Amino acid sequence: ATPTALLVGTGRGAQLGVLVKGPEVLESTRRVDTVVLDKTGTVTTGRMSLVAVRPAAGEDEDEVLRLVGALEHASEHPVAQAIAEGAATRVGELPPVEEFANAEGLGVRGVVEGRALVVGREKLLAEWGVHPTEELAGELRRAREQGRTAVLAAWDGRARAVLVVADTVKPTSARAVRELRALGLEPVLLTGDNEAAARAVAAEVGVDEVIAEVLPQDKVDVVARLQRRGRVVAVVGDGVNDAAALAKADLGLAMGTGTDVAIEAADLTLVRGDLRAAVDAIRLSRRTLATIK
Ligand code: ADP
Ligand code: MG
Repeated sequence: ATPTALLVGTGRGAQLGVLVKGPEVLESTRRVDTVVLDKTGTVTTGRMSLVAVRPAAGEDEDEVLRLVGALEHASEHPVAQAIAEGAATRVGELPPVEEFANAEGLGVRGVVEGRALVVGREKLLAEWGVHPTEELAGELRRAREQGRTAVLAAWDGRARAVLVVADTVKPTSARAVRELRALGLEPVLLTGDNEAAARAVAAEVGVDEVIAEVLPQDKVDVVARLQRRGRVVAVVGDGVNDAAALAKADLGLAMGTGTDVAIEAADLTLVRGDLRAAVDAIRLSRRTLATIK
């Protein structure tokens, strides 16, 4: 039977900006002891902007922006949108792309004006036999030490530039993390982004445990591993790359500002995309369950 208190709890949830898939969902929040937070779009706004272009010696900045911007224009990833927007603002109209292909959590490739382009993490470029020059490797390192996301661009088999993108932490994230701790929950930051950028965001919001450079298909394994260690896991995410982890979690919470795929996979939706609503949801369900007992 569904206790009336649970249904009341769901109604109250809607007022708090939390949509609950079914009243039974609240039951699983009781034992949650670990909250896995996706970085981009969950802890941060995910509204990134292009802050720097570092061409290799002999490369022209506008040419880099035109070609790379054109390729990224075909991708929906927040990093890609930032690069495409920044490029269009600076160089105007972008040429069309042929043979576009997306490597989830790694980057993109395609052909622009007859040149074979690859943009993304070093790992992706290495698959194509392309490695950064010492100069570009230094640019990648410096940007990441500042907590930024930096990607490498190459065409015709040679690394041509580093593009630096900055994201900002949501103003309510640090407080939400503090409140999670106050409820006895251990926060963990999980991301496909590089370790240094992840550490910088974690430090800014007060999370100690960081699991970075995790490919989209491996996020679900991280959740399973925590569960095997006896932890009861909530996952908060927004992206297509979080869907499997949200489904696997003991409690999946999707950002209402995120993708439909994430919302479908989750048990709860945080309508406003504010991490504090996750705290409210957990608090609410504990109170509701206490009423029934
Ligand atoms: P998160 O787990 O934080 O949501 P993702 O798994 O979506 O991050 O992406 C991980 C990393 O892969 C990005 O930080 C970026 O370095 C790289 N990446 C993914 N897609 C693209 C793209 N279209 N262009 C450039 N880099 C990309
Ligand atoms: Mg994300």
